[in-house]
Amino acid sequence: MQLQIKTILNAIQHFPGFVYRDIRLGRELRGRGRTIEIRIEPHAGIPAKCSRCLQPAPGYDRLPERSWQFPPLWGLVTWFLYAARRVNCAEHGVVVEHVPWSGGKRPVTIAMMCFLSRWARRLSWRETARAFQTSWECVYRSVEWFVQWGLAHRKLENVESIGVDELHWGKSQRADNFLTVIYQIDGHCRRLLWVGKRRTQATLRRGLKELGPQVVGGLRFVCTDMWKPYLNVIAAQAGQALHVLDRFHITTHLNQAVDQVRRAESGRLRAIASTRAAQLKDMRWKLLRRGSRVRGRARDRLNALVASKLATARAWILKETFAPFWKYKSLTWAGYFLDDWTWRALRSRLEPMQKVARMLRSHRSLLMNWFKAKGEISSGAVEGLNNKIRVVTRRSYGFRTYEAMEIALYHTLGRLPEPEQFAHKFC
Ligand SMILES: [Zn+2]
Repeated sequence: MQLQIKTILNAIQHFPGFVYRDIRLGRELRGRGRTIEIRIEPHAGIPAKCSRCLQPAPGYDRLPERSWQFPPLWGLVTWFLYAARRVNCAEHGVVVEHVPWSGGKRPVTIAMMCFLSRWARRLSWRETARAFQTSWECVYRSVEWFVQWGLAHRKLENVESIGVDELHWGKSQRADNFLTVIYQIDGHCRRLLWVGKRRTQATLRRGLKELGPQVVGGLRFVCTDMWKPYLNVIAAQAGQALHVLDRFHITTHLNQAVDQVRRAESGRLRAIASTRAAQLKDMRWKLLRRGSRVRGRARDRLNALVASKLATARAWILKETFAPFWKYKSLTWAGYFLDDWTWRALRSRLEPMQKVARMLRSHRSLLMNWFKAKGEISSGAVEGLNNKIRVVTRRSYGFRTYEAMEIALYHTLGRLPEPEQFAHKFC
């Protein structure tokens, strides 16, 4: 008794109504590689099904043989060969039959698309194509199919908190190089819900529309930056939700302000050849980290800088003294703290810090919402997802188009469901 490939195929992927007929070792058209060709025949006793309604229908004629690429067996490129029938459906007329391993017009089986898609999460698309002897285009189209299947089958229930953010990708600063992303940031599920080009009101409106009125109406918390177009749309469309300016974004603004002060001052000191310029050299990361996390020799340099009368030192102190704000339990005390801090920042004569202070002051009520939502939303969720997006967009070096990158983002961060019957057997 010999184990046959047919037996294995039937065990891992059996299609009712079809049988694996003969399996041969072939040769690639060009080149000297070997291939495996698996010829499939319809089961004599089972009628074909209409591809549109999936109902059995009488046969009409047969089309010429086509091939579909299957996951490679023993490293050999493997093909399914089959001549599809056309059926005469009572409802749809003469149409091609339903071919269960085929996901459309492309010469790739669903199993292969799932196989490539799963590997495309671990390797870059280019590496995936090389590893499995196929093209970048084939990997791209496979992931695209996989993502579209996932988006069509995902469930958008219990979405209570979302984070909306804008991200930059690529090199240019054109409007098209910004993305609007909508994340779900609930404790039980963190994922990318939607991504779209640009960061305008229209973009966010389009995103919310695609999520649907049920999702938008069910929101309890929305986390955003102080980006005006988003504030407007959220207020108009998700008025019932508590709108929170989150810690991560405020911290980013403070850090940027400190950095601006440092750069300007460093330039000024170097221009007059001051010896104090050395104090600001290589200090960028030491200044931007949370103060309590700077240790060792870096700490000594930071302490020396803080003791100086430099503007950078004053900016850094302002940034650091804002941190306790997030720890308050009482709304009233947090409010006093905020007013006191903004008052000091406005008197600091440091233009970038004053700018942050004015911004915080004009968004005071949204900022105070942080305390109303306390414990219910995670401050790190948006930041964490943003970092993951950066990994993908950086790997996206090979992505030639925005569309390809968008698909890669849904693929890696969307937590999309997968067509299990095809996906789980091969990797
Ligand atoms: Zn039909």
